[in-house]
Amino acid sequence: MSQPGVGGKPNSLLIVDDSSVQRDHAVRLCRAHGVPLIYEAVSGFEALELLDILAISPALIMVDLEMPGMDGIELIQQLHRRGVRLPLIVCSSRERALIQSVEIMARNLGMSAVAGVQKPLTPEALEVAFGAVLSAQARESATGLVDEGGAQALNAQSLASAIEAGHISVHYQPKVDMRTGIVRGVEALARWQLEDGAFVRPDRFIPLAEQCGLIHDLTRAVMHRALAQATEWNARGLRLSMAINLSQSLFDGHEVVGEIVGMVNEYALQPDQLVFEITESTVADRIGIALGSLARLRLKGFGLSIDDYGTGFSSMQQLARIPFTELKIDRSFVHEAHHRSDLGVILQSALDMGHRLGLVTVAEGIESMKDWRFLQQSGCSVGQGYLIGKPMPPSELPAWLKRHQLRLPELKSQGPN
Ligand code: C2E
Ligand code: CA
Repeated sequence: MSQPGVGGKPNSLLIVDDSSVQRDHAVRLCRAHGVPLIYEAVSGFEALELLDILAISPALIMVDLEMPGMDGIELIQQLHRRGVRLPLIVCSSRERALIQSVEIMARNLGMSAVAGVQKPLTPEALEVAFGAVLSAQARESATGLVDEGGAQALNAQSLASAIEAGHISVHYQPKVDMRTGIVRGVEALARWQLEDGAFVRPDRFIPLAEQCGLIHDLTRAVMHRALAQATEWNARGLRLSMAINLSQSLFDGHEVVGEIVGMVNEYALQPDQLVFEITESTVADRIGIALGSLARLRLKGFGLSIDDYGTGFSSMQQLARIPFTELKIDRSFVHEAHHRSDLGVILQSALDMGHRLGLVTVAEGIESMKDWRFLQQSGCSVGQGYLIGKPMPPSELPAWLKRHQLRLPELKSQGPN
């Protein structure tokens, strides 16, 4: 893939729009913005053909939503199926909420550098969108995660060998109290380390593990690492709550609860130090299957968190039926909510609902001080995001804690609460 250009502009892009007037307008604006190489496609089909034949992919794709034949949503889904993860700008003259829901869909498909703009395009809106996707892409590269497995093939066989050989490691991302900034816990995030030292992103290997029946082994490997780590931190007087992600396919016919309890006993940990994060889509899609296991986990004293809240279309009734302890609001409603009233409204209603259900509210994806203050003023209890700390190997946590200690005065709530 070609690299993004400097100064907030891509050095090449593909504009997909069926209207020649709109396309010409977009081309003119992008040229004026200094983008040197611009490809055009009049339909989703033509865009896919072009991407197949181009030796070097464009650095960014701008997709119109309303097109005859293949609409923009279908094109994004096709790009995902073909493994194309280029930065994306979603354009439409339709309402902001519709553009926003397509952005969320693309992010859920693993395309993290996504922005939306409302037509008619203006130079200012284009500049903001370029800035948003390119900085998201730069942040992603800075996490050291790779998209492809380099020379090493990523398939069921190589994943099984990696699990067997202990090449699944765990990085930890801090979760902090939003009033004081004090660290409360960490989330364990799986990493697959390749022979060349690069890390493969979990959104590439978790779906693979789910499809090829390896998710059980993978989760067991993650849990062993995370529980051993918690035991070591406890012994040093650092008692952090440990959050672990559970996939929905774990609940299909497996005796997960007995196994989890067995492991926690093996490490002599108290259940209340552990929180299991279950995505909202699991709640919405598999509640019948997962309900018994979730209720038993809660009965044993573990915390239960609804992960990625806002993306899974669960009903109030479904949420109220499970004894959750935490509501984790998806980062697509958190980052930038301070200047987007539509996001702000969704965020506030999720927080209100969480508080009414007596849940600890957690905001993930806090990237800026503006995000932090906005969430703090909205009454969110716990925060997580790059502003506070990126997921890190356990060896980096002591130094991070020292640096974080110095930031507490800046993070502390300035309001009356
Ligand atoms: P998640 O549970 O929603 O985890 C949060 C993801 O957001 C992590 O991505 C984290 O690095 C990223 N993140 C944290 N703060 C920020 C921020 O401020 N901005 C942005 N843009 N991103 C932020 P990661 O580590 O790539 O993990 C992706 C997903 O993979 C996780 O999403 C989780 O669903 C899944 N996953 C990771 N480890 C496991 C595991 O052991 N088991 C299962 N079942 N799923 C896992
Ligand atoms: Ca999570």
